[in-house]
Amino acid sequence: MKILVVGGGIAGSTLAYALHRAGAQAVVAEARPDIGTTGGAFLTLAPNGVNALRSIRLGDVPAAAGGFELSGLDFHNARGRRIAEIPGENDQVTYGARSVVMRRANLHTELATRARAAGVRYVHGARLVELGDHGAGLRATFADGQEFDADVVIGADGIWSAVRRLTWPDAPSPAYTGIVDCGGWASVDLPDTARQQMYFGRRAFFGYAVKDSTAYWFTNVPRADEPGRTELDDLDQRAWMDTIRRLHSDDPEVVRAVLRAADGAVGAWPVYDMPALTAWNTDRVCLIGDAAHAVSPSSGQGASLAIEDAVVLARWLTDEADPTAALTGFVGERKARAEKIVRFGRQIGDRKVASAAGSLFRDLTLGFFLRMGGKATTEQYSYRIDERPRRVTRPEAERV
Ligand SMILES: Cc1cc2nc3c(=O)[nH]c(=O)nc-3n(C[C@H](O)[C@H](O)[C@H](O)COP(=O)(O)OP(=O)(O)OC[C@H]3O[C@@H](n4cnc5c(N)ncnc54)[C@H](O)[C@@H]3O)c2cc1C
Repeated sequence: MKILVVGGGIAGSTLAYALHRAGAQAVVAEARPDIGTTGGAFLTLAPNGVNALRSIRLGDVPAAAGGFELSGLDFHNARGRRIAEIPGENDQVTYGARSVVMRRANLHTELATRARAAGVRYVHGARLVELGDHGAGLRATFADGQEFDADVVIGADGIWSAVRRLTWPDAPSPAYTGIVDCGGWASVDLPDTARQQMYFGRRAFFGYAVKDSTAYWFTNVPRADEPGRTELDDLDQRAWMDTIRRLHSDDPEVVRAVLRAADGAVGAWPVYDMPALTAWNTDRVCLIGDAAHAVSPSSGQGASLAIEDAVVLARWLTDEADPTAALTGFVGERKARAEKIVRFGRQIGDRKVASAAGSLFRDLTLGFFLRMGGKATTEQYSYRIDERPRRVTRPEAERV
């Protein structure tokens, strides 16, 4: 089976690695000119994401990517009072792994490097613009005119997926949420934090964690108009930092101290809400990761879900000889879980936006909300990929 993976990000690189490890072949077509230009700030791999990597013998990737472990979250109000917590000290015992924070670019580079070392071919500068069926298979055409024939095409090309648009022209588009996520890192004179520290600030939500005198911070900047697709790639760093510092100027000293120290590059990406798709697959095309179910950054599950998808799809494509059965089996196994987590992330994101306006309501209801969230988190973290062979069960008559 000739498999073309469109998009060599987190999902695409993991999928290609897992396929090659299982003896299948895949080519990755990636729009960006090389791995080093993929960028991003930082992200968290949840215990389920770490366990998914372990299942394909990539358990050392988080550490190799410079990740550091955290044990839960503390929530503070705008006066700095701790109002709630999600303890994570038992995560290692309960889930077999802890959450790990790392720079996105490091995780991406590490995954792509492992895939290359396993024999995966990456074609860089390959932006998919057309996808057609010529009877005997699929033909992908790229912006530079290159063509590639394949039996199966996997859309691992992120939230603005071209594979999705070309295969399902009527599929809903992501909707801008009015929030731009910003983040970066800063050298600080602060002790390591065992947990991630979250602040419902007066005008915006803020989070940070410190490891070895480096603070990893993020904030949710409210912005009514949707930024242009490339507008945030070339930020006026100084102007953005001024805006961010102003947003948090009435928040606790530790928040202001981290932002005072943040003189390096700041990453910014608008947050979108993607409605659930009716279908993720046809008989030869399938979506994974953000292309199928972009999840709010507030859930902390984007990269973990993308990795889970990749591992499960690789199993289906290597265990089941019929591609249509493999893709249908994969979607049947994954869709409900991913969409439940998308709904959860949406609720948290809405809450962060509402919090600036209604701090009393938020303080009063946060405990209840976190208890609900605690249950969801247990379900998310405890997921383990079933290692049994994947086969579509056919009716008796068909089997003979
Ligand atoms: C540049 C960048 C920075 C990010 N920064 C952060 C961050 O700081 N924090 C965070 O939590 N999440 C960040 N994310 C999102 C996070 O990586 C994803 O939510 C998650 O990892 C899911 O991974 P994915 O592989 O599905 O999608 P992505 O990681 O978005 O990967 C999609 C890949 O497809 C490629 N692609 C897109 N269109 C085409 C096309 N037409 N043809 C070929 N290739 C194409 C993209 O260049 C990209 O490499 C970032 C994503 C990107 C692309």
